[in-house]
Amino acid sequence: MNDCIFCKIIQGEMPSYTVYEDDDLKVFMNINPSTNGHLLLIPKKHLTTLLDVDKEWMGHALEVIQTKLYPLLKEKLHCDGLTLSQNNFYGQEVKHFHIHLTPRYEHDLVDYQYNEEMLNEVETVFHTLVE
Ligand code: 5GP
Ligand code: ZN
Repeated sequence: MNDCIFCKIIQGEMPSYTVYEDDDLKVFMNINPSTNGHLLLIPKKHLTTLLDVDKEWMGHALEVIQTKLYPLLKEKLHCDGLTLSQNNFYGQEVKHFHIHLTPRYEHDLVDYQYNEEMLNEVETVFHTLVE
């Protein structure tokens, strides 16, 4: 039995405000938005994280964002910019791959918080990454 809420949305078992849909993906309003027009873009197939999606699907998603969604958000909501984000495992509430499209507006106060005490020297981290 699949308890995934996003699969339920795809199957029409749960309602959503769908903005765009085709054979491979669905785009709907985030129920708890960070800004006006905060969208979620998901594959119709249940995939969990970035490690599961393929290049073809990502390419298609990018094309839909570039040609349909970002222009729509700009035209209808007059956003000043757009932030794409995507959580894998840690910070991921819904375990069905999804891309956040968060329209940005001047003074929207959307910000990342981070713990400075956890930060190592940039050079040290660089050497850890490349050696
Ligand atoms: P995550 O933290 O996994 O990257 O983001 C999950 C997002 O899904 C959250 O921003 C949350 O508001 C949204 N969300 C959770 N449940 C539902 C739902 O039932 N319907 C819709 N439309 N969005 C949901
Ligand atoms: Zn799912």
